[in-house]
Amino acid sequence: MAEGMTRRTAVTVGAAGLGSLAGAAAAPAGAAIAVSPTLFSIPQMTIPVVGNSAAFPVRRVYCIGRNYAAHAREMGSDPSREPPFFFQKPADAVVVVQPGTTGTIAYPTLTKNFHYEIEMVAFLKGGGRNIPIEKALELVIGYSVGLDMTRRDLQDAMKKEQKPWEIGKAFDQSAPLGPIHLADKVGHIAKGRIALSVNGAVKQNSDLSNMIWNVAEQIAQLSRANELFAGDIIFSGTPENVGPVVAGDAMVGMIAGLPDLTVKVAGPLPV
Ligand code: MN
Repeated sequence: MAEGMTRRTAVTVGAAGLGSLAGAAAAPAGAAIAVSPTLFSIPQMTIPVVGNSAAFPVRRVYCIGRNYAAHAREMGSDPSREPPFFFQKPADAVVVVQPGTTGTIAYPTLTKNFHYEIEMVAFLKGGGRNIPIEKALELVIGYSVGLDMTRRDLQDAMKKEQKPWEIGKAFDQSAPLGPIHLADKVGHIAKGRIALSVNGAVKQNSDLSNMIWNVAEQIAQLSRANELFAGDIIFSGTPENVGPVVAGDAMVGMIAGLPDLTVKVAGPLPV
């Protein structure tokens, strides 16, 4: 049953893709076309939705950079002059952690400076191009607490060499997050405390209202660079006082109105 649904989804996407390539002569989006079987199957990352037996399938994971003024300053840039920019993590970097449990992520390879960044995450149930700010929140199905884990030394080294700093951000298990809380239930969260503690000591402590670009503005901006789709998720930036964790540390991420996210750092991945 699940396999059949997956194949039907692939057919629809394939037809739409042909449509954009072949122009007016193409089959209408959604029309059935012959699709070859795949050599092997790969898992679809999903995130549980509170109060719904159906899970959220992840398409892309977007993250905004330097979206709180004090964090932009600690990263060495001027928040007043910086337009928003985005990067991505792979969908399978997501690690789902249920409230009331402690999730585990490996201490990643190649780094000696593994940083936390507490962030609110927004989940899209629809998309589009050039989305107006005033329509953007209609596309958000809900929110969760997430961590944009970062190999800061690798990010810094790549910045210095003017190379892409993907290796510092887009790595295995770099996006732990909690289940999705529907906007219908918790509202569109725009203010309230966002904080992170490590081993019980508060490290980051701010308010969501300190975002330079709010979630609606982020969606509007991002939709100018890429067409957005249902299944896309957006990490909405971290406040100041990012810092390192080591194996054995336990992080607790907190956002007012959402349950805490608890994540422990295990030893390194086996080589
Ligand atoms: Mn971040």
